Amino acid sequence: MQPTIVPTKKDRLEESQIEFRVREYGEKIFALMDAAEAPSLFSKKGFYGTLMDWAMKDEHFKTQLFRFVDVLPTLNSAGEISRHLKEYLGEEQVNLSPALRLGLKAAGGASWLFGAGIKGQVTGMARQFMLGDDEKEIVATLRKAHEQGIAFTVDILGEAVVSEAEADQYAQRYLDLMGLLGKQIVRWQHPCNSNDSPRGHLPPLNVSVKISALYSQVCPTDPDTAIERISARLRPILRRAKELGAFINFDMESYALKELTLRLFKEIFTEPEFATAPACGLAMQAYLKDCETDLDAVIHWAREHRRRITVRLVKGAYWDYETITAQQRHWPTPVFPHKAETDANFENLSLTLLENADVLDGAFGTHNVRSIAYVLAQADRLGIDRRDFEFQMLYGMADPIKAAVLQLDCRLREYCPVGELLPGMAYLVRRLLENTSNEGFLANKFAKGASRDELLKNPAQDVGSAEVGRVCPQRAGDDLDLPGGALRTDAPYHFQNEPPTDFTIAAEREKMGAAVREYRRKLGQRHPLIINNQPVSTSEWLPSLNPADQKEVVGYAAQATVAEAEAALAAARAAQPKWARTPTADRAALLEDTAALMRRDKAALSVLEVFEAGKNWQEADADVAEAIDFCNFYASVMRDLGRPQRTQAVAGESNLQQWWPRGVGIIIAPWNFPLAILTGMTAAAVVAGNAVIMKPSDQTPVIAARLLDLMIEAGFPPGVVNLLTGPGGKVGAHLVAHQQIGFIAFTGSKEVGLRIWEAASRTAPGQANLKKVVCEMGGKNCLIVDGDADLDEAVVGCVASAFGYQGQKCSALSRLIVLADNYEKFLDRLIAAAASMRIGPAEVPGNLIGPVINRDAQQRILGIIEAGKKEAKLAWQGVVPAEPDACYVPPTIFTDVPPGSRLFREEIFGPVLAVTKAKDFDQAIELANHSEFALTGGCYSRSPVNIERVKAELVCGNLYINRTITGAIVERQPFGGFKMSGGGTKAGGREYLQNFLVPRVVTENCLRRGFAPAEEDAHL
Ligand SMILES: Cc1cc2nc3c(=O)[nH]c(=O)nc-3n(C[C@H](O)[C@H](O)[C@H](O)COP(=O)(O)OP(=O)(O)OC[C@H]3O[C@@H](n4cnc5c(N)ncnc54)[C@H](O)[C@@H]3O)c2cc1C
Repeated sequence: MQPTIVPTKKDRLEESQIEFRVREYGEKIFALMDAAEAPSLFSKKGFYGTLMDWAMKDEHFKTQLFRFVDVLPTLNSAGEISRHLKEYLGEEQVNLSPALRLGLKAAGGASWLFGAGIKGQVTGMARQFMLGDDEKEIVATLRKAHEQGIAFTVDILGEAVVSEAEADQYAQRYLDLMGLLGKQIVRWQHPCNSNDSPRGHLPPLNVSVKISALYSQVCPTDPDTAIERISARLRPILRRAKELGAFINFDMESYALKELTLRLFKEIFTEPEFATAPACGLAMQAYLKDCETDLDAVIHWAREHRRRITVRLVKGAYWDYETITAQQRHWPTPVFPHKAETDANFENLSLTLLENADVLDGAFGTHNVRSIAYVLAQADRLGIDRRDFEFQMLYGMADPIKAAVLQLDCRLREYCPVGELLPGMAYLVRRLLENTSNEGFLANKFAKGASRDELLKNPAQDVGSAEVGRVCPQRAGDDLDLPGGALRTDAPYHFQNEPPTDFTIAAEREKMGAAVREYRRKLGQRHPLIINNQPVSTSEWLPSLNPADQKEVVGYAAQATVAEAEAALAAARAAQPKWARTPTADRAALLEDTAALMRRDKAALSVLEVFEAGKNWQEADADVAEAIDFCNFYASVMRDLGRPQRTQAVAGESNLQQWWPRGVGIIIAPWNFPLAILTGMTAAAVVAGNAVIMKPSDQTPVIAARLLDLMIEAGFPPGVVNLLTGPGGKVGAHLVAHQQIGFIAFTGSKEVGLRIWEAASRTAPGQANLKKVVCEMGGKNCLIVDGDADLDEAVVGCVASAFGYQGQKCSALSRLIVLADNYEKFLDRLIAAAASMRIGPAEVPGNLIGPVINRDAQQRILGIIEAGKKEAKLAWQGVVPAEPDACYVPPTIFTDVPPGSRLFREEIFGPVLAVTKAKDFDQAIELANHSEFALTGGCYSRSPVNIERVKAELVCGNLYINRTITGAIVERQPFGGFKMSGGGTKAGGREYLQNFLVPRVVTENCLRRGFAPAEEDAHL
C-alpha cells in the first residue's frame, strides 16, 4: 500500500537553512529542559511513575490498566473496587511479560496496588491532568499559573450528553464558570505575561467549548437542526463572553462533527450580534488529510468578514478512534496513516498560520520540541515577533517544555479541564494513552530516552519512506493493526460490506433529498404480479399506504389468487432444471450485477423504504446496504460451495462432496426490513440453483416489485424468480402446503411461523421431497445493564436498541434489566434521553422515531400499552405529532415490570420498553433467560468476569456486549435465533446457503491395475 504523500511548500523556504535553525532551537529547548526536572509523570518513581513505566513495557497490562482506570470512579464500595482490581489486574488476568512479572512480584503483586489505596491514587493521577470541581481550588490553581506567566483556557469535562436536559445543564455550567472566573480575574493584580502581545492585552478569560455537549441529538442527516439547537445554547455563552470581554474557542472533536463545527463557527460569528465580539477561535487538526483545505477556507472567511480569529493548530486527539471507525464502516480514513505525515502537515500548516498573521492569531498546541522549534524558526525567517503567537499545552503535561518555552520569552497558555472526575475519565484515558504512546514525542523523550537526533528529525524525510511507523490499513482485508488485535480471516472468496452512506457529506444529503422529491412524483403506480418475467394484472389491487400519511398511496399491488399461484409455481418448475445447470459462476455473477444495480439506485430505493415502510433515512440506507451485501456475500459463498470438496484424502479413492439445489421454493418475507430480508432469502435460494416465488408482505409490495425489476434488469432468466403479491393466508398457505414445493424460507411472526412449520411437516400424497423450512421468527430481546456499566454508552445504546425504527426490528430491545446499584441513576438518564428523541415523519431528516407500519399495528400496540398500565408502572411516554392520518405510537417505558406479566413475556413489535430491577447479576441472568425466545441479547458491563458469564450463560442467538443489540452486519454478525425465535439458521452466515442445498458425496475408485493418480487439491 502506498503511504499518502503530504504536499509540502518547497518554494517557501530554503530547507537547509530552516533545518539548521530548527535544530538550533531544538537544542536550545532541550538544554533548557535538561536544566529543569523530568516531569513527575515520567519519573518512574511512586505509584503513577511505576504504572506508566509498566504500561509502556507491556501492551496487555496497559489495556487492562486503562480499562480499570476507566471503570474505577463508578465503583462505590471497597468490595467492588477489590473485585474489579482482581478481574483486571490480578495475576491470572494479566499475561505479563517475564520482566514485568518480576517487577510486579518485587512490588508485592496486585496486593501492592491494594495497599496503595487505589481509588485515592487514581484520583490523584486524574488531578494531575484536571482541575476538579472545587471552585476555590480551580481559582487558586489558575491564579497561580497566571502569576507564573502562564495564561489559561478552561474547558468543562464531560463531552457525552445523552439528553437535552444534560445539554442545558452543560451550557449552564459554562455560564456559571464564566461568572465565577470573570469575578475573580478582575481582582488579580498584574496582567499575565502570556496575555501580552504586541497587539495589546488578550482577554484573560479564555474558554474552550465542545459543541457536542450542547446538543444531544446531532444527526448526520440533519445538520441544520443541530446548528439551530447548538446556536440557541451558545448565544447566551457568547453574550456573557462579550460582557466579560472573554475569548471563546471551539474545540475540534471527532471527524463526524468537523463540518458541523466549521459551519457553526462561520455562521454564528457572522450573526450581527457576534460579528465583532467576543474574540473567538477554533481548533484545527493537522492529522486530517483535509485540514489544509479547511484552514484555507477559514482564512478566506476571516478575510472576507474582516474578523481576526485565533486558530489553535493541534495534531488531533482521536487518531485510533477515527481509524477504527472508518475501517468498520469501510469509509476512507480521514487521518494520515503515518505519524511522520501528521508531523509534516503540522509544520506545513504552522507556516500557513504564520504567513496569514494579518488575520490569524496562531496558537500552536503541541508538546513536541521539534514542532515548537519549527514554528520559532519559521517565525524568525518571516520576521514575526514571537510574542505575536502563542504555544498551548495541556495542564499537567510536559512541564519542562513549558518552562523552556517561557524562558524563550514565548507566550504560553495551558488548557485546563475542570469538573468532576467521573465525566473526566475519557479525558484522563486520552492523556494516559498520549503519555504512553509508542510514537508520541513525550514517551520517546522522557521514558524511552530517544536521542536528540531522532527527536529533532525532519518528519518530511520520513514521508513516503518505508520507515514511517504505524500504517493505517485502508480497506477491510488489509492486515489490521488494531487495538485488541483484529484477526485475519483466510476467506477463500472475496467479499466486502457495502459502506453505509456518510450523510455528513452534503452531496449525499442532497442526493437523498432530491430522491424524496423525485419519488413523490411516482407515487400511486400499479405493480402487477411478475411470472416468467412478465407482468400479470389481477382484478383486485391493494393500496400500499404511507405509514406517516394514510391518505398517501405509495402504490397499488396486484392481488394474486390460487390460479396465479399455480401459474407462478409452474413457471418456476419449468425454469429450475436449466437454471440448476447454469454454471455457479454465472448465477453468482447475476447476483453481483443485481447488487451493482441496487448501488446505482441506492438513494431511490432508500426513499421508497421511507415512504412505504416508514424508515428514517439512515435506517433505510442501512437496509439497502444490507440487501447489496446479501447479494454479494451469497454470490461469494456459492462460488466457493460450487466447487466439489474432498472429504478425506485417501490413496486410490476420490471422495468429493458437492451440493445440489432443492428445487422450487417459496420466500415469505416481512415488511420490517423490506428489501434486505426479501433479497437475502431470495438471493440465497436462487444462487444455489433453485427457482422461487417471492411472497412479500402486504405492507411493502412496491419494494418487492422494485427488487424483481432489478433482478430482471440484471438478467435473471424467466421463471427463476416470480413475484406473487396478495393475501398470505390464501396464496401463501396454498403454496406452503403444495406437494411440489421443496422448501419454504420464512421470516415473520411466531404465530405464522409455527403454522408454516406445521403445514410443511405434512406430506401430501405424491410429494417428492421432505420440505425444508428456514424459519426466522421474533424475539423478546433482553439487555442487562450492570452496576459498573458506562452509563453514557448504555443509555444511548438502550435508546437506539429499543426505539430505533419504532422498536419494529426483530432484534429490538424489549426487556431491560438493570442492576440495583445503577437503577435510579440509569433510569433518570434513560428517560431524559428518550424524551429528547425527535419524533415525526421518516421523510424529514433527523427524525429518529416515525410512525409504526399501519393502523392495525398502531391499534394493537396502543392496546398493549393500555393493558400494560395494569401490570406495571408507566414511567414515561413520549409525545407524538397529532396527525390523525399517521400511525404514531408514543414511545413508552414501563418500570417494575413483573417477570410473569405480558409486558415481560410477549413480543410487542413496537416502541415499548419493559424495565425490571435485578438485585444482583445472578438474578439478572435468570430474568434475562426467562423467555420462550432466544434471538438477540446484550449486556453493558465493565466487569471482565460478568462479561464472560454473559457470554457463557445468556440464551440468545446473537449476543452483543457494550453496544447496541440491533444492526447485525452480513458476514460479520450472522443473524438468527433459536427456541421460539427460529430454527437456528443464520442469515448472512457462511452456512446459510446449505439450507437451500442438498449435499451429495461421490466416491470413485481411482485404482486401476494397481496404479493411482497423485492426490490433488482439497478443493477442486
Ligand atoms: C492546548 C491544547 C488543546 C487541544 N485541543 C484539541 C482539540 O480541540 N481537538 C483535538 O483533537 N485535540 C486537541 N488537543 C490534543 C492534541 O491533539 C494532542 O495533544 C496532540 O495531538 C499531541 O501532539 P504533540 O505534538 O504534543 O505530540 P506528538 O507526540 O508529536 O504527536 C502525537 C500525535 O500525532 C498523531 N499521531 C499519532 N500516531 C499517528 C499515526 N500513526 N499516524 C498519523 N498521526 C499520528 C496524533 O494526532 C497524536 O496525538 C489539544 C492539545 C493541546 C495541547
